[in-house]
Amino acid sequence: MAIAQVRRALGGANRLHHGGAGRDEQVARRDLEPTDGPRHQWQVLTPKPTRRPGKPLQRRRNDAASRDGLGERPAVADQGVQLARAELPRQPIEHELTAAHADQPVVSQYDPRLGLVVYHPPMSSPPPKTADTGIAAHPANRLGLDYAAQARCLGDPTAPIIDVHSHINGQTAPEIYRRVADLYGVSLTYSMTQLEEVEAVREILGRRVRFIAVPNYTGEDRKHHHGLGFEERIRRFHELGVRIVKFWAAPRGIDFGREIGEPDLLRLDGSTRLKTMELAADLGMIFMTHIADPDTWFAAKYADASVYGTKAQQYEPFEELLDRFTVPWIAAHMGGWPEDLEFLSGLLSRHDNLYLDTSAAKWMVRELSKHSRDDLVAFLRRWQGRIMFGSDIVTSDEHIKAGEKENELHTRANSADEAFDLYASRYWVFRTLFETDYDGESPIADPDLAMVDPDRYDEMDAPQLVGKSVPPDLLRSLYHDAAHDLLEPLHRDEC
Ligand SMILES: [Zn+2]
Repeated sequence: MAIAQVRRALGGANRLHHGGAGRDEQVARRDLEPTDGPRHQWQVLTPKPTRRPGKPLQRRRNDAASRDGLGERPAVADQGVQLARAELPRQPIEHELTAAHADQPVVSQYDPRLGLVVYHPPMSSPPPKTADTGIAAHPANRLGLDYAAQARCLGDPTAPIIDVHSHINGQTAPEIYRRVADLYGVSLTYSMTQLEEVEAVREILGRRVRFIAVPNYTGEDRKHHHGLGFEERIRRFHELGVRIVKFWAAPRGIDFGREIGEPDLLRLDGSTRLKTMELAADLGMIFMTHIADPDTWFAAKYADASVYGTKAQQYEPFEELLDRFTVPWIAAHMGGWPEDLEFLSGLLSRHDNLYLDTSAAKWMVRELSKHSRDDLVAFLRRWQGRIMFGSDIVTSDEHIKAGEKENELHTRANSADEAFDLYASRYWVFRTLFETDYDGESPIADPDLAMVDPDRYDEMDAPQLVGKSVPPDLLRSLYHDAAHDLLEPLHRDEC
């Protein structure tokens, strides 16, 4: 059956392709040049007379790899990789689409059962149905990829991946995560697991997981749980062998504090925080932090700078504390400013104890794709050893359960298969971004596009993912060596 290809004809440089199209269609976007038609206009294109479901991944750029003298990995295209759809049709998704970014723990709503707090309110519009099957596209798999087959096609990473940033929780979800990690070559994962779940997660992942101390985000008495309560937890985490503490300080923490009349509750340099940092440093722990959110959020959610400050202002207390606490700091999400590599270079040059992780898939795909390959590779080369791989994967048993809709986590996945796709999609986009020269739409819906420009985008749209073919020596550092060199010495006593 012929399946229409649809594409939104967008003017300007930021061209996107709509994700609600049928999953059987060929996404031959390189053949599709933009038209001069008005924005928002849909164009129906003649389908290709092929039954192939996907577009071949492009040949990995190996010239730089050869120059580095470390040998070429087989190009992805050499292995005949296709963006193949799953062999079995997926189950319909009956829930409403949400564009959750539940990766962030502190926000304005929370689920008392989960210990995770969610940010975005559920979206009201249902996910688009594909034209041929009526099956809804899933926000983690807009392109209908078979993520297990894709992992096999990508092959082993240049080095076993250490994921320094995740949130592994649950009794069953970690088993799904383990399968994903196996497939994508992730050998060790650092996780911000709730203290109460550490043992259960350790039972499933064994020595492949280490933990990062976090406060009890869902405790009723926020003042206690982010003060003395956090100190108690840090000691208990430390006894369990944990050597990293997370100090989360995104601007929306102001709302979290304001709800109890303590707007400075999560201020990075608030007096309680400083005491907690003293304790953690005395225990020999290093710090992870979350300083800023995407530029898109400052354009929309944080537009009122009198409440949240500007994005640059988020870094003022951070830079003071980098000097005050000379322990290593890992600033999550490319330090909070992947949009501006020059700013990050300034930050890294001013503070030798600063490291960055790459976590937050949607954000990184959207913003790192925009940098030229040369710029990103030059950045990674200059700061080799200080940029570490992180995913920000969040696992929860709620992802596996069908039904109930009052909790946003349900709507991100409703079955084991969907949970698998949710987790695997993160590693797929990161490895594709770093290792290949794929140039096509991301399989993960990015609602930030609609948040900033609702007339042009909907919640299922996604940005271009532009692979950067990072040379193998830099990949090795990013995936493994940087984290290994920094973190392994903290765990010597485990052997
Ligand atoms: Zn995170």
